[in-house]
Amino acid sequence: MGRIAYVNGAYVRHADAAVHIEDRGYQFADAVYEVWAMSGGRLCDPEGHFTRLERSLGELSIDMPMTRAALTTVLKETIRRNRIRDGLVYLQVSRGVAPRDHVFPASPIAPAVVVTVKRTDPVAAEARAAAGVGVLTTPENRWGRCDIKTVGLLPNVLAKQAAKEAGAAEAWFIDADGLVTEGASSNAWIVTSEGVLVTRDTGANILRGVTRETLLEVARTANIRIEERAFSLTEACSAREAFFTGAGALLLPVVSIDGRAVGDGRPGPVATRLRSLYIESARAAAI
Ligand code: PLP
Repeated sequence: MGRIAYVNGAYVRHADAAVHIEDRGYQFADAVYEVWAMSGGRLCDPEGHFTRLERSLGELSIDMPMTRAALTTVLKETIRRNRIRDGLVYLQVSRGVAPRDHVFPASPIAPAVVVTVKRTDPVAAEARAAAGVGVLTTPENRWGRCDIKTVGLLPNVLAKQAAKEAGAAEAWFIDADGLVTEGASSNAWIVTSEGVLVTRDTGANILRGVTRETLLEVARTANIRIEERAFSLTEACSAREAFFTGAGALLLPVVSIDGRAVGDGRPGPVATRLRSLYIESARAAAI
């Protein structure tokens, strides 16, 4: 059986799925998205992603295309039709289709909705986490509303490609003050030499990662000292451990930054423990 996508009310063969050439997401990146990790065919961190979706849409004055309950049914039906247990669910909502004009359409149009599901390999993911990954730093060059999860991701795409070409798994953006903002598709964390867990506060121009929120709860429950504050690249390079979080990566230990080892150059105990605690907790709460 081939892959199935949901497009504007219909479940269609992935190979045939298409949006209109005047979809505003396609022409202006006038669209938002969400990605859910899946565990055993269920959605991880469901509510956090719906809450952020509603907020992103609200910030752009795009209507929620359907209720949370109806959207949940669509996501779960797309998962079911693809017969995938471990993977990622992608939802994109654009303002809709209208003759090309920068300003919003004068009369209301229906948002366009696309859902796809992709299989992931949990064994390969565990091996990757056990080995740890490298990150490449790059100057922050994104717009001032990174809290909105829009599909306007060109700086992230270029940063991630540069990371890949350097043999790294993720790019970390560094702002003009030498502070780490976040990853190209993840939030950045360090563990200081005093054992304090540090991640950038959400007052900064970053995406409020849902995995980040859940992991903060997990770390609090595990009685780990936490500071939500900015940290510099210099502090990250001399940290005991570093890692990043996101629905795709879950939690991946960082063993090098720009080719220089972090700590002893191996995944640290805090990152390793938090990864398994996060997975356990996300699995238990998946719907
Ligand atoms: N920051 C950016 C720029 C992202 O694109 C993502 C995920 O795609 C994240 C952080 C992590 O967010 P989440 O944990 O909700 O997946």
